[in-house]
Amino acid sequence: ETTIDRIAAGEVVERPASVAKELVENALDAGATRIEIVTAGGGKTLMRVSDDGSGIPADELPLAVRRHCTSKLPDEDIALVGTLGFRGEALPSIGSVAHLTLTSRRAGAGEAASITVANGRVGAVKPAALSKGTTVEVRDLFQAVPARLKFLKTDRAEGSAISEMVKRIAVAMPQVRFEIAGEDRTPTILPAASPIERIGAIVGEAFAADSIELDAEREGVRLGGFAGLPTFSRGNALHQFVTVNGRPVRDKMVLSALRAAYGDAMPRDRCPVAVLFLELDPALVDVNVHPAKADVRFRDPGLVRGLLIGAIRQALAREGL
Ligand code: ADP
Ligand code: MG
Repeated sequence: ETTIDRIAAGEVVERPASVAKELVENALDAGATRIEIVTAGGGKTLMRVSDDGSGIPADELPLAVRRHCTSKLPDEDIALVGTLGFRGEALPSIGSVAHLTLTSRRAGAGEAASITVANGRVGAVKPAALSKGTTVEVRDLFQAVPARLKFLKTDRAEGSAISEMVKRIAVAMPQVRFEIAGEDRTPTILPAASPIERIGAIVGEAFAADSIELDAEREGVRLGGFAGLPTFSRGNALHQFVTVNGRPVRDKMVLSALRAAYGDAMPRDRCPVAVLFLELDPALVDVNVHPAKADVRFRDPGLVRGLLIGAIRQALAREGL
């Protein structure tokens, strides 16, 4: 059983940043308005994600760390799930390759409770101290799996991958306050803000001030966000933030459509800077092709490509470009 869990863990947990992604998405699913991420040793020694979300009742803590247990499947139809997670794999997978402590307090509960999973061994539910929400502490990630530990980069590299991951999520969730802290980094605080303020904080104030707002719709697919003026080009695609129904994704088709939209307005070897929010009927997109990757599969990729190119070209044309 532990072996199966560890194989599953390989799917969900590749590195500390994937742990951060899963825990932050759980916090968002729980309706958190404040999320704090604390790391040590680039997230290998410690990653603690605290939220002020709905919390978990004490008697449901054992379920939360069990495989394929999820509270997020309203109607058996996986394609229509609106929340970020729904596989019930993250906590058990992390718990199989680390020392995980889940502490939670539901609003109105007399006290908090916690449960630990130490490299796959689930402990008993115990009373704990926590005023509100949920705190998940993950220590010694992959310590018991040397083969995986070996593939991790330096603390510094893993630490900045965590920041990048959290920022990719935060850019689409401006109403939520994020704080990334820890002895291994200088703290980043992203206060609750308007969408454009959040984009300024993450992508840069210059971009926020000098980009074009996008607002287009085609056959039920909505595109919002901001596209940089051609003068904002970069040498790589790291400054392209794309979300689909609130989830950060990395999709070749979207990025190539984005580049195509700029055409000759930008030198061949340059990449545009953009923040793109795509919203569409969850039945028309599969954002869970692979749990740890940010792949998406659109039912009609041509429609999305056409919408993107059309909207950005129109916006650039309006600026006389
Ligand atoms: P999934 O998110 O796919 O349901 P997870 O393993 O990530 O699976 O989490 C299992 C369950 O634990 C969730 O369905 C949810 O009920 C509960 N849970 C996990 N994290 C939190 C959190 N931060 N706040 C409230 N509930 C949580
Ligand atoms: Mg989850």
